[in-house]
Amino acid sequence: MTSTDQERWARVKERLRAEVGEDIYSSWFARMELEGIEEDTVKLSVPTRFLKSWIQSHYAEKVLACWQAEQPSILRIELTVRSAVIRTLPPKSKPAETASELAGNRTQTVRDYKSSGEPRSMLAPVSAVHEALGGSPLDPRLCFETFVVGRSNTLAHAAAKQVAQGRRGDAVMFNPLYIHAGVGLGKTHLLQSLAWAGNSSPERKVLYLTAEKFMYGFVAALRTQNAIAFKEALRAIDVLVIDDLQFLQGKSTQAEFCHTLNALIDAGRQVVIAADRPPSDLESLDERVRSRLAGGLVVEMGSLGEELRLEILKYRVAAAKQHHPGFDVPPQVLIFIAKTVTHNGRDLEGALNRLLAHSKLTAQPITLEMAEREVRDLIRPQEPKRVKIEDIQRVVARQYNVSRADLLSSRRTANVVRPRQVAMYLAKTLTLRSLPEIGRRFGGRDHTTVLHAVRKIENLVNTDAALAEEIELLKRQLQE
Ligand code: ADP
Ligand code: MG
Repeated sequence: MTSTDQERWARVKERLRAEVGEDIYSSWFARMELEGIEEDTVKLSVPTRFLKSWIQSHYAEKVLACWQAEQPSILRIELTVRSAVIRTLPPKSKPAETASELAGNRTQTVRDYKSSGEPRSMLAPVSAVHEALGGSPLDPRLCFETFVVGRSNTLAHAAAKQVAQGRRGDAVMFNPLYIHAGVGLGKTHLLQSLAWAGNSSPERKVLYLTAEKFMYGFVAALRTQNAIAFKEALRAIDVLVIDDLQFLQGKSTQAEFCHTLNALIDAGRQVVIAADRPPSDLESLDERVRSRLAGGLVVEMGSLGEELRLEILKYRVAAAKQHHPGFDVPPQVLIFIAKTVTHNGRDLEGALNRLLAHSKLTAQPITLEMAEREVRDLIRPQEPKRVKIEDIQRVVARQYNVSRADLLSSRRTANVVRPRQVAMYLAKTLTLRSLPEIGRRFGGRDHTTVLHAVRKIENLVNTDAALAEEIELLKRQLQE
């Protein structure tokens, strides 16, 4: 980094300060540091994840605009958490070897495939080929025909379709395709649809793996004698699909994932990934892997809107009717479920299954009253969430970059004492637990210690605006 960069950074900070005001500036940006500038990207860091996500969701554009005012060539701001930037060593295995193997020419691959006696997909059913490659099982119900497209998933659907329709040898448009969404919003459905559709062409092999399967099958195979056979199989793959990437764990697994990813992408194969969060939030992943993941097309699927929920329900009822012709759900019941049951696709399925069970067991028609009774516990709760002490400890520890064990320990260093006091204060204000109970849950402390902490923070909150805001945000985070 040059001294001009630092001077520029100083001017950008002044701009920011002028734009947002002293208070906001000192709460959020005072601890932000410049890590470097690479081409069109400015790399900044902050000390906690909380700061990072807050700045990202509230001030990302402002920060970028202030940079651009000083340096118009800047197009991107990359924000990282300082202490969380762990640089892992390059993988021990030889990536070059695998990369070139993977890049091995395709005619060769096809011939190998034939002569090794593997079933050709033209002759074998789609799933048999998929299983022969070691893929996770595919559910025949999860296909494009049953995937309902709405506002929240149009782009993800279009991208998945595009990948599924690609032909061997086509240029890859976006690589990797990375889809993220919360639980039950259709990631697995979309990825499996892609795998089914992609594999229906005799020309192409799509391999669908859960992250777990990747870890325990794939990586295990890479490490054993089977590695050769495994690489053979890998060579035959045109599209590798990995579901639930957030479950990928362990340093060496990640190193192997990283090198598989690089090898496939460099060889022009398509990689498709789903996870419950964006690449930047896969905290345990190596920075280089994250940026590789973010380098393709990243698409988020939002929560299912009411319209989409209703469409999904209609599809589901129609499908159920094929096996249970007497299953009639009046439109107002469907509308009621679409309106009240949470945005999660799994709960919709659960609600319909209950209606189906009820109508089969009692042979009574489905009415609104009955539906209300049957799905009561799936209805989106209106009252605020009950906060647990463990959650408080977890969130506070993360916010201040200490461990939960530190909070419970008897250590008295300043960097642990304050977070511990904040956590006790939150436990007192957000839960119904008594002071002695809170003391017990914080490493067996006396109730007077808890009381002292609560008073201390109460006083500080009145004088320290930044702390007050920080606590407000912690509360909000816990109650969300
Ligand atoms: P995720 O993998 O994101 O947790 P799933 O793909 O398992 O979610 O979806 C949960 C349930 O909701 C499944 O039964 C799925 O078929 C259904 N679902 C979700 N989105 C859609 C959609 N757009 N169209 C049809 N069904 C959907
Ligand atoms: Mg899933």
